[in-house]
Amino acid sequence: MRRDQRYRFLINDNPVRLEVHDLDNEQTGPNECQINEIRNYRYIIDTSINGLVNWLTANPQYDGCAYCLSGYNTG
Ligand SMILES: [Zn+2]
Repeated sequence: MRRDQRYRFLINDNPVRLEVHDLDNEQTGPNECQINEIRNYRYIIDTSINGLVNWLTANPQYDGCAYCLSGYNTG
């Protein structure tokens, strides 16, 4: 669920877990996205999948979340 309607993709900037979540597909089970536990975050401005793909290409140190962006998770 989006916390701010303007922003779809949330970046977790925790150095031990650099990843991106899709808040429109948030998974709330135990050990899934756990968005509310993320303390160090920011947002991708572009809300389209193309915008996400471009951002991940430009920031290869980040991975898609295994739960909400499994198609963009490289393990
Ligand atoms: Zn997620």
